[in-house]
Amino acid sequence: MPSLLPIPQLKDITTNKLYPAYKTVKGLTIQLNGTKTLLPKGDTLSALIMFADECGLKTVIITGGSESTGHSKGSFHGKGLAIDVAGTKYNNLTHSAALLAAKKAGFTHGAYEDFTGSRKDHWHFQIGAGNGLGDKHSLDLPKLYIKKY
Ligand SMILES: [Zn+2]
Repeated sequence: MPSLLPIPQLKDITTNKLYPAYKTVKGLTIQLNGTKTLLPKGDTLSALIMFADECGLKTVIITGGSESTGHSKGSFHGKGLAIDVAGTKYNNLTHSAALLAAKKAGFTHGAYEDFTGSRKDHWHFQIGAGNGLGDKHSLDLPKLYIKKY
């Protein structure tokens, strides 16, 4: 399927249009969980690509990008500065691997949002502090902050 998106770094490899998928130059796959999830642009897209390349998975499932709905008011998603990475039920990642890849990619703050007993768990990473994420959410800390809901 041809892509209309101006994303030279990514190749559109979508086979089911309900679930857009993109391949990075390094050959890793970014799989979106649906058409409501929007790829970020600019530096945040570059950071997402580097996260995909560095996290150690062949395919990483992304559940949040630059969409302006479905997130908290003032969310960094609407500003195009955040991503959500599907949790451990969907991505076979450890917290330390996710933290390392996110930090390397240029994200500065984040948390694992743990919705116990559901499938909504995800890693949230953003560029910059704000919208409730401060010093304790810094990716410079040795351990990722786990937020329980
Ligand atoms: Zn998020």
